[in-house]
Order: sequence, then structure tokens, then C-alpha cells
Amino acid sequence: MTLTLAESLAAGIAARRDDLVALTRDLIRIPTLNPPGLNYLEICEYLGERLGRAGFTVELIRARGAPGDSSTHPRWNLVARHEGQGAGDCVHFNSHHDVVEVGHGWTRDPFTAEVEGDRIYGRGACDMKGGLAASIIAAEAFIAACPDFRGAIEISATADEESGGFGGVAYLAEQGRFSPDRVQHVIIPEPLHKDRICLGHRGVWWAEIETKGRIAHGSMPFLGDCAVRHMGAVLAEMEATLFPLLATKRTDMPVIPEGARQSTLNINAIHGGAVEQAEDYTGLPAPCVPDRCRIVIDRRFLIEEDLAEVKREVTALLESVKARRPSFDYEVRDLFEVRPVMTERNAPIVRSTAAAIEKVLGRAAGYVVSPGTYDQKHIDRIGRLKNCIAYGPGVLDLAHQPDEWVGITDMEDAARVMALVLAELLQP
Ligand SMILES: [Zn+2]
Repeated sequence: MTLTLAESLAAGIAARRDDLVALTRDLIRIPTLNPPGLNYLEICEYLGERLGRAGFTVELIRARGAPGDSSTHPRWNLVARHEGQGAGDCVHFNSHHDVVEVGHGWTRDPFTAEVEGDRIYGRGACDMKGGLAASIIAAEAFIAACPDFRGAIEISATADEESGGFGGVAYLAEQGRFSPDRVQHVIIPEPLHKDRICLGHRGVWWAEIETKGRIAHGSMPFLGDCAVRHMGAVLAEMEATLFPLLATKRTDMPVIPEGARQSTLNINAIHGGAVEQAEDYTGLPAPCVPDRCRIVIDRRFLIEEDLAEVKREVTALLESVKARRPSFDYEVRDLFEVRPVMTERNAPIVRSTAAAIEKVLGRAAGYVVSPGTYDQKHIDRIGRLKNCIAYGPGVLDLAHQPDEWVGITDMEDAARVMALVLAELLQP
């Protein structure tokens, strides 16, 4: 009896189950905390050695001069490429290797990678060392079952996704690593669940708004101009007009959770008046009229919206406050912006992943869009590559939480899906 390629891939991945668990545990045991960016070289060297043994050509690339890069905390990235026999497309799996801080509330050690039943626990287990391990096992099983494949497979492990990706995917994209002539298909194994394809994300605009006043003695506020009162008027105007407006803006993007299927705005911070004193300061504050007050806004916008219009809404609001308050003045400073991205449903990577999910899990794939951004933004904008999705094992809600875990069977199923995608796109 001869096995079909799909059957031999499934058998190859089942045979690698212990290896998948061991690899995931090894990755969790390297605490790549970001910030500040610890052990990036260690994890890249570990992966480089493994992928080198599997026949990949391995490069370790430091994002010199990128935000966060320093001699104490260098931003190391790994890119590994396995050429097939003859010309064809390149399928690239991109995972970030950094993890967020541990935080409070853990009942287990976050870096010993305890296994209990079908779960591996640890910081980064689901976001996203489990996905990285699944993609490596998928590639190794595919290469073993189909050694004469066409094209190429790339695996990257990149820095700093949790802090914007500038020392990771953005840097590699600027070096041409995601240009469409080099890479044709990208899967980012973020934990979106094994039966869902994430097509993209909403847009982001962060800005700082400052209201201006004039300092004076607090006992004679009429001699100054209180910037905090001006900010109060701005916030009242937001409550009265902007938040209700945003609630009416709905998207056709399949954003999860449902509450994020509209425009949203968060006020990330507010500061006004004298700076807060250190906790060991036992004196009283000095009485002054605050001469400035600042907020940081985090506006998430939809693919149907235009960024210039998003900014105009805020300027119009500030102008309407100004019309009512003669001494009011303000400044808006852009901090960060990312346009929304959404890969077409009929893109090759979407179609082949959907077919593979149906084959492995026996149910139709779900399509989702992330409320927040991830590294797809850099692949889309700098790399100009539109054929990109996020697909990987794990429950998104567990990301950044205490007692984070990834399911072993989920990783195995996701690896089978990834291997079938390789079979469909790279078969001779
Ligand atoms: Zn992640």
C-alpha cells in the first residue's frame, strides 16, 4: 500500500510529536523578554543550529541602529532558507521570538515549560513559541516526505514584535527580505486558533494632544489659564460628539471580538500640572495653575476609513472647543500610525490554508481580522507583499496572561495544516 502525500505528512508529524513538545519547551526555556530584549542571540543560535541540521541555510541578522538595538541588548533575527529542486514559489513562516513581561498571578514557573496533560505552560507558549515550533516541525516533515519539492521554504524568528517590530520584521523588510521576487507566500503563526485564518488588522493612529495654559499662583487662578480645565472641555466634547460618532462606524472586516467591529478610541494616558513626586516625598505639592495638559489617544480605524479623515475628526473637535473658549490653544503630535491591511480571500495563501484546514479538521475555515496590529503591517507596507496571513495554534485570549499555555494537539493539527499548505504550493 502506498500512502498519499497527505497521509505521509500526517504520519510524519505524528511521529514527531515528542520532538514538537521538546522543541516548544526548549524555546520557552530561553526567556526572550521584551522589553528590554533578553537572550535574542541565544534563541537565534539555538534555532540556527537546529535548522542547519535540517538542511537550511541559516543567517543571523542584527538590526543595527533599529529602535531598541544596543550593544547590551542587540536585536538579533534569524532567517533560514531551504531550497527545493528547481524553480518555484517561496513559502515563508515568520514568527516573533520575543515575549512580554511575566506579570502577576502565575501559579507555575513561567520559564520551566511544565507539561500537564495536553498543555505546555509558560510565557510565550501560545504567543508564539508554539506556533514557531509547529511551523518548524511542518517544514521538516514536508521536506522528509517530499524531498524533490519545488521552490523554497523560509523560516524566520524575529525580534521586537511586541514593541512594534522595528528591530525585527520591519528591518528585514527594509533589507528586501519580503520583496515579492524573493518571497511569494507568508504565514505568521500567531495564536489565532487552528481553524481560523486571520486576514489582517485594523489601522492605528496614536497621537498626543496638548492643551496650553499659563502658570500662576494657585490662590489667584484668574491670573493664569488652567490647561487641565481646557482638557476637561476637550474630553467633554469627545463624550458628547466623538464617541457617539465612532460607535456608528461599522466595518465589513470580520474583526474579532465583535466589539472591535467599529471604530474605537482609547485615552491611554493623561498628565497635567506638577509632576508626581516620588513615593518617599513627604512634603505637600506646590500650588500652581497648570500651564499644560497632555493626553495620548489610541484611535483604531477601519479599512473603510481614511487616515486623513480620522485625523480631521479630532482637529475639527479641537477647533469647535476653541470657538467656545477664547484663550484655548492646543497642539496635536503624531506618535505612530499604521494603515489597516486585509488580504483578499481568494489570495493563494488564503485558499490553500482554507483547503488544508478543511482536510485536517473536517470543517470549514473561519476568517477573522485582528483588532490590533502585528507584523503583517511591515510585510504589507515595506515588503509590498499582499499574499500574507496569520495562522497558528493557540487561544488568542491567553496571550500576555498568567499561566499562558499552548495545546499539544492544537500544535500538531496546525503543523499538519501548514505541511499541507507546503504540499499544495510547492509540490513538483
Ligand atoms: Zn504574538
